[in-house]
Amino acid sequence: MSAPTCLFCKIVSGSIPATIVARTDDSLAFRDIDPQAPTHVLVIPRRHAHNIGELADTPRELADLVALAARVAEQEGLDRGYRMVTNTGSEGGQVVFHAHLHVLGGRPLAWPPG
Ligand code: 5GP
Ligand code: ZN
Repeated sequence: MSAPTCLFCKIVSGSIPATIVARTDDSLAFRDIDPQAPTHVLVIPRRHAHNIGELADTPRELADLVALAARVAEQEGLDRGYRMVTNTGSEGGQVVFHAHLHVLGGRPLAWPPG
């Protein structure tokens, strides 16, 4: 199921190009167009959902997403640590309303976030 106007659904379908770094049957990982760290990869479910919370109803899909994010971190050599983060809603900083995990690493990351 995809949403015709959704940017990340278009990346899943291939109608908008992206630098894919890993994939499973259910999830896709690609580089963020505006990286905030040396590694900045977005990991998304292929099926459209508005946010990560919506995936609670499909726990296998959620587990696949988290597992792929962890695999990307390993693949990118982030053995000193990384951040797996998701923004939800406009006040949470979400801009693209297709669920995604950010995998950020390759530099020390400040906490708390802004
Ligand atoms: P959000 O703010 O919704 O958590 O994150 C959306 C992310 O998508 C941002 O980090 C932004 O840079 C990234 N992004 C927006 N448009 C594109 C695009 O067309 N291609 C890619 N690869 N990333 C995008
Ligand atoms: Zn979508």
